[in-house]
Formats: sequence, structure tokens, C-alpha cells
Amino acid sequence: MVLTVLMNAGPWLSVPPPGYGGIENVVATLVPELRRLGVRVVLASVASSTLPVDDRLSVFADGQFAALQRPYNQVCGVAQAHLNGVVRALRERDDIDLVHDHVEAVGLATLTAMGRDAPPVLHTLHWDLGKHPDLYGYVDGANRVRVNGVSAAQLARAPQALRAHSVGHVHLATPLATTERKSPVEPGDHVVILGRITPGKGQHVGAQLAHRAGFRLVLAGPVGPYHRPTELSAAGDAARHNPDVRYWYEQVAPLVDGVRVRWVGTVAGRDRDELVASARASLFPLCWEEPGGTAVVESLALGTPVVATARGCLPELIEHGRTGLLAGAADELPELVHTANRIEGNECRQEAVRRFTPRVMAERYLELYDDVRRLAG
Ligand code: UDP
Repeated sequence: MVLTVLMNAGPWLSVPPPGYGGIENVVATLVPELRRLGVRVVLASVASSTLPVDDRLSVFADGQFAALQRPYNQVCGVAQAHLNGVVRALRERDDIDLVHDHVEAVGLATLTAMGRDAPPVLHTLHWDLGKHPDLYGYVDGANRVRVNGVSAAQLARAPQALRAHSVGHVHLATPLATTERKSPVEPGDHVVILGRITPGKGQHVGAQLAHRAGFRLVLAGPVGPYHRPTELSAAGDAARHNPDVRYWYEQVAPLVDGVRVRWVGTVAGRDRDELVASARASLFPLCWEEPGGTAVVESLALGTPVVATARGCLPELIEHGRTGLLAGAADELPELVHTANRIEGNECRQEAVRRFTPRVMAERYLELYDDVRRLAG
């Protein structure tokens, strides 16, 4: 029997995402491989998504990423409008065997509230749940709704009510681990931090260290909904109600001198890959418990050693001394950056090819889909 999965990627960005995109990247990596394994996929996303699927549904024409800067209740309103479309579709059609949901809190709440009207649901947790103990309390008693983490460390921090409904964890993956590597890029002398510019990712720590220890640092990623330095400055003071924009102005921008520390905005496609592949190291000076770390496994796939604080999923993804260097505290990072060349790029690449391919991730999700359907009875 062919399994039909409704993959709910949410309303924030198209799939694949135009540049930055956490959840949307995960979906874009997973879906093609599931389909190769014989699964029918119905994608719930925005109408501008171009990912090939068997069927699709959407409420919004385009990604609602900019709405994420509004107050939290309005953000939930956008997520809810999208979910209402999903619920309508689930009530109208009878071909969905399982919903694989990726919409933080609202997705889980809405699908749980459907009770026996909903097919079995697997909700993938993407965030650090130690910070949101209350958000997920309501899964109590829902036998048709299960959750999975993106690392063991993330699940260990989740509230007990949520852990009781967990079917395990699945590490993130990257298509870069399967694509043929192009001719080696010219090595640069820079260190890169790739990711959303936000306090948890610790760009301010990285920038301080770059000045103190004398290495060149490139910051790549959006600040709130702003992808380019020009967009951010055009937005003016009105943008400052976004916490990541405030973080940028207060803690990062004063350290960005355009020479020692540069911000290049969001990078995509080949530019992103070359920026990371040519770096001496990918730096993760984390100030939170990193839940999944797509950028970590991407760096390994591109043959670039990871230098990071040993927080969240990092010790699960990186073997200290072989595929990267892990620090107990931020002040150990400069020494590790300077000695990152003792890590073999090829060893990093092989680790990604072995552990972080879309195939490895999709096969693990198929196991979890079986578990979820069995537990739903
Ligand atoms: N990313 C990108 N361009 C950027 C910054 C990030 O394409 O300028 C991508 C990055 O390669 C990764 C994703 O966005 O695939 C971020 O995922 P990660 O798990 O590292 O961070 P989070 O989901 O917490 O934002």
C-alpha cells in the first residue's frame, strides 16, 4: 500500500526557501527522498512553493516571513489561518494516512484538537523546548499525535508532557552530503558564522573573539526579516521592535567594521556553499542549546571543520578532534579557531556522507511513521 503523507511546512516561506529557511530546508531535503522511497506527499505550504510533490494545498500566495516581526499573538494568527486550511482539507479528503507537521505549537495544538477526525500526526519539534515549557503542555492524552526531536539533547530538555509522546529523534540532513563535490574552492583565511542573526547563535560573541584573537569573520544570515544590509537600513527605527533587530543594533553592529568583521546578509545557493567551503572553520559560538543545527551538518558536507561551544546537539553531531573542535566555554574558542587546520576536511565530508544524507533521514522518518500509525491503533 502506498503511504500518503500530508507534509505541513507552514506559511512562513516557500519550499525550497529562497535563502535562509530552517524548517523549509528540512522539508525540501526530506520530501524528494521520501518520494524516491515510494511515499505520496501532499505539501501544505504557500502557493509560491516550487518543490515537486504529488499534490499541494495552500492558504497564502507567498511566504509570510515578514509577519514574524509582529507581536506573538498576530504571528499565531497567521499560523492559525494556514492551519485552518489544513484542517479543512483533512475533513474533505480521505486519502491522508499521516500528517507530518512542522508548525511550532499552533500546529500541534490544532491537530490535537481535531481528535479522532485527524489522521495520526507526527509533529517535529524544531526549537529549544527548555525555553518554552508551557507552550506544549496540551498534548496530554493525545494518542494519535506524537512528536519527534531533531536531537537527543533537544528532547532531553523538553517538558515531560511532551517527552511522554515522543517517538525519538532524527538528526537533520543536507543534500550537500550526496551531491558530487565540485573542484575544490580556493581556501580563504576567513571564519564564517552562517545562520539567523539572533542572540542564541552568538554572533556578538564571535565578533568579540574575532577582534580579540585577530581572525577575519564573515557573518551570513538575515536579521529578523531583513536579508540585506540595505533593506535593514531602509526600514529605519520602526524595525527595532523586532528583538533580533534590536540585538543587531545593540550588540553586533558596533563590532562590524567591514574589515575584521563583515555582515554579507543572507547568502544562497552556490554563494553560500563557496563561502562555507572556503572558510578555515564554521564557528558556532552558541548562547543557547542548539536544537538541530542544519548549518553544522552542511559545514561537514562541505568539508569545513566546525568550531563550536559544546551546547545542545553539537556533541551529537561533532566528534571533538576528528570532525571539529568543541569548547566548554566561549573563551576557549580563539585557540580552537587557530588550530582548526588540524581537522581533515575529508574526514568531515565522510562523516556527512555516512550520517547526514537525505536518505538516512528519510529512512528514519519512515520508521517513525510506522511507529506513529501503530500507536494510533
Ligand atoms: N541559511 C542560508 N543562508 C544564510 C543563512 C542560513 O541558506 O544566509 C540556511 C542554512 O544553510 C541552513 C538554514 O538556513 O540550511 C538554517 O538552519 P539552522 O538549523 O542552522 O538554523 P535555524 O533553523 O535555527 O535558523
